[in-house]
Amino acid sequence: MPWKLVTEFTFDSAHVIVGYDGPCGRLHGHTYRVKMELESSTLRSSECVDRAIMVADFKTLKWAKKDIDAGGLDHAYLNDLLGDDTTAEVIAQYLYRETLRRIKQSLSENDLGDDLKLKVSIWETADSYCEYWE
Ligand SMILES: [Zn+2]
Repeated sequence: MPWKLVTEFTFDSAHVIVGYDGPCGRLHGHTYRVKMELESSTLRSSECVDRAIMVADFKTLKWAKKDIDAGGLDHAYLNDLLGDDTTAEVIAQYLYRETLRRIKQSLSENDLGDDLKLKVSIWETADSYCEYWE
């Protein structure tokens, strides 16, 4: 893949891992750090520019940084979105699927985005993170 976009951002959210026998079973919050890596073999236009000069708009990869009321995950209660299971593993998978869905939604009709490869990394604490890709 000749192109790879990489961007990192944080968002603050609360969660509970329901049924967890320990501190993670109590309501608490994290400043999650996210790294998005998107590889592509072709360049595309975006909603902001009509020429094929981008893998994707960086802002599309950073959607989760936005406030929950603006469609992101910042200052969200993650259990409202994901149910009882809000581990880094489950959040990483959700970020992966939702990010690819949003990218593919922005593509032109005859472009399925089959060449796009996404990898999501999410840090729950400074020294512990989870990676997800398919
Ligand atoms: Zn936690």
